[in-house]
Amino acid sequence: SHKLCMIPGPVEFHEDVLGAMSTPATSHVDPGFIQTFGEVLEGLRRVVATKDGQPFVVSGSGTLSWDLAVCNVIEAGDRVLVVNTGLFGDRMAECLEVFGAVVTTVRADRLGQAPNASAVGEVLAAAAREGRPYKMITITHVDTSTGVLADVQGIATVARNASPGTLVAVDGVCSIAAEELYMDDWGIDVIMTASQKALGTPPGLAIIVVSQRTLDAWRNRKSKVIGYFAAWSKWLPVMQAYEERRPLYFATPAVQLIMALRVGIQQLLDRGMDAVFQAHHQASAEFKAYITDSLGLTLLPVTDDVAAHSMTAIYYPEGVKATDLLPRLTEHGVVVAGGLHPDLATRYFRVGHMGLTVLEPQRRYLETTKDALGTSLAEAGYKPSA
Ligand code: PMP
Repeated sequence: SHKLCMIPGPVEFHEDVLGAMSTPATSHVDPGFIQTFGEVLEGLRRVVATKDGQPFVVSGSGTLSWDLAVCNVIEAGDRVLVVNTGLFGDRMAECLEVFGAVVTTVRADRLGQAPNASAVGEVLAAAAREGRPYKMITITHVDTSTGVLADVQGIATVARNASPGTLVAVDGVCSIAAEELYMDDWGIDVIMTASQKALGTPPGLAIIVVSQRTLDAWRNRKSKVIGYFAAWSKWLPVMQAYEERRPLYFATPAVQLIMALRVGIQQLLDRGMDAVFQAHHQASAEFKAYITDSLGLTLLPVTDDVAAHSMTAIYYPEGVKATDLLPRLTEHGVVVAGGLHPDLATRYFRVGHMGLTVLEPQRRYLETTKDALGTSLAEAGYKPSA
């Protein structure tokens, strides 16, 4: 029987999302499909709260969203500041360097913390003063390897003041549609995300939304884009055509996944994004309270204000190892994820609570997860000390 997939993505899918994929073969230039793709692009703008941001939806996993953003904007020698709160910050630096960026990293003193906005602002301001401003700053909104939440709004605000020309890019793979983010109001230039997390759709779609000034940076670049499948010169006309409800082909889209994403997005918009964010806050608070207060466990993020609402990273208690807990949880019908950050990997586990799993009526999935955790820990010999 199906075991609840409570990892930090992919998440449980709504039957209507899955049902939307169960269609006969459909041409990617079929008028109905063109309509569906157009609605996906319009819906994405509403999910991230932008009026004139340009969405791109391309077949691939979340990592492709990085290539899609980076290869079109970054030129060899461009300076980029990476705000690092875990493994995905390390990887972002690696991706940027592949395309020739010169990367500087800011991080907090230890894993589980996040650099504060003013510290980031000082680095940007100093570079601007020296006449070698950063072309881009990247922020992992929720680093899935640590469950740390970055202050995107605060950092974006100081970035605009300290270094107005710097593009603000957000890795929102584990945050978009779970954590508040208002692209236009916060002055975000690049959002990178994917289908399989809070958007509630199976894995396979890379998604970016970029500001008009990011498109200008691309148009004004001096060197050629290194990349073929990810080149905006290929995809921008296709995205524009779908929005104008015209057929245009570059490479075959994942037709059925687009159909599913349309339903996933519609379910979010029907509830309203603020209600969706609120549901994540509440589910996260209840789940974390159970973990810390009832079970007496410790979270990886060191303070509440840097703890994600889309997931929770939890240290195993003394005497309990991954092999003691995870197989027992599976026996009780719940799949969670082990640790991911190489420095701590064997010491903690991760639970995803985003999308469907925090919304009624499937909210009970989280109750099932709590029960299974309590039972499995008891079976592993752990007793919470009162
Ligand atoms: N960034 C973050 C924050 C992620 O959580 C993930 C996936 N765990 C990725 C990027 C990469 O996405 P994918 O695995 O879909 O390529």
